[in-house]
Amino acid sequence: MTRPLHDRHRAVLPDWLALYYRQPIEITHGEGRHVWDADGNKYLDFFGGILTTMTAHALPEVTKAVAEQAGRIIHSSTLYLNRQMVELAERIAQLSGIPDARVFFTTSGTEANDTALLLATAHRGSNQILAMRNSYHGRSFSAVGITGNHAWSPTSLSPLQTLYVHGGVRSRGPYAHLGDGQFIEACVADLEDLLGHTRNVAALIAEPVQGVGGFTSPPDGLYAAFREVLDRHGILWITDEVQTGWGRTGDHFWGWQAHGRSGPPDLLTFAKGIGNGMSIGGVVARAEVMNCLDSNSISTFGGSPVTMAAGLANLSYVLEHDLQGNARRVGGLLIERLRAICAQLPVVREVRGRGLMAGIELVQPGTDRANPEAAAAVLEGAREGGLLIGKGGGHDTSVLRIAPPLTLTVAEAEEGAAILERALRTV
Ligand code: PLP
Repeated sequence: MTRPLHDRHRAVLPDWLALYYRQPIEITHGEGRHVWDADGNKYLDFFGGILTTMTAHALPEVTKAVAEQAGRIIHSSTLYLNRQMVELAERIAQLSGIPDARVFFTTSGTEANDTALLLATAHRGSNQILAMRNSYHGRSFSAVGITGNHAWSPTSLSPLQTLYVHGGVRSRGPYAHLGDGQFIEACVADLEDLLGHTRNVAALIAEPVQGVGGFTSPPDGLYAAFREVLDRHGILWITDEVQTGWGRTGDHFWGWQAHGRSGPPDLLTFAKGIGNGMSIGGVVARAEVMNCLDSNSISTFGGSPVTMAAGLANLSYVLEHDLQGNARRVGGLLIERLRAICAQLPVVREVRGRGLMAGIELVQPGTDRANPEAAAAVLEGAREGGLLIGKGGGHDTSVLRIAPPLTLTVAEAEEGAAILERALRTV
């Protein structure tokens, strides 16, 4: 008899691969907001793959578009045009809000951020980057080099010089006790102070809501305040929308829009949800920034027709069914319900979130100290109850992360919250 996968993987996959659960799950298929494992267990997916299943598992519109395109041609070459790539670029350029926007497709969020960093450093003639503390931007050498969350940054070597700015996390750190306005002032003063010691910074890169960092967000307006300082120094603003794009945060289509008067960023990176699981990433930038490279460049699989067909069908579904509105409504109800459940639980420090991006931060009861053991136990308990969730945070990964597909129904939100309540009550 063939040994199960959870026995075999250790002999061939790296030890540092971040797999969930004492006994990792082998997912075999999915439909809507549900997935099934190789033992036939059914789960409600409250992590949307890994925020990748933006609309629904096996959404017929996306599956049909992929199958039809695969039947015509899977890959021609990035050296030729394909209609899907140009059409998706047109739609994303228009949605980005960036004037005179150009779009470059990659195959992941890492590669998108890498490209944004390449463009920003080339445009500004500098390899100095500002990044937020506790941030995550991917796993390439330059992306881990700027990632502020050290649990996900395995090397201190980097091709870039990075300066870390306060502000990505509202509820912890030296300014946590301040009101929103004072918090922003303190973070801006910190940024000004850093810039007082440096000459030529290329860009600030920031996630509007820190994803891997535990779904933490700064007060609205922080990046608008930063923008004024950046503009004075000619520094570019890169918004990493890999987790926050396409309406997930409910009130806004992009995470950066919560910051109001800042206007659009200079560069925007995206990935994860747009392909509903197909590998699409990309960068949007003003033409002047995008076109600053004076050598040729391609991504062999970026813009591939099958992935682009998936992206077009998926994006159309999001817009035609107002999934941003659904994220706002159902996400709002879900966060309210989770707050009610957690109000009496001493293991919970905070329930936070925007739209369908909710975080539950766990602590040692009666203290402010992180509780990664409790988070791991809730993950296992939720799985036993038929619910998949994520976790994150700083080094301690003590935040439960909830980010279901944007088609989540109220009944499913209730069902998932009830399973979570049972799992939380056992720790
Ligand atoms: N940026 C953010 C904000 C992310 O959350 C991630 C992945 O989790 C990445 C970049 C990297 O994306 P990928 O894993 O597709 O390379």
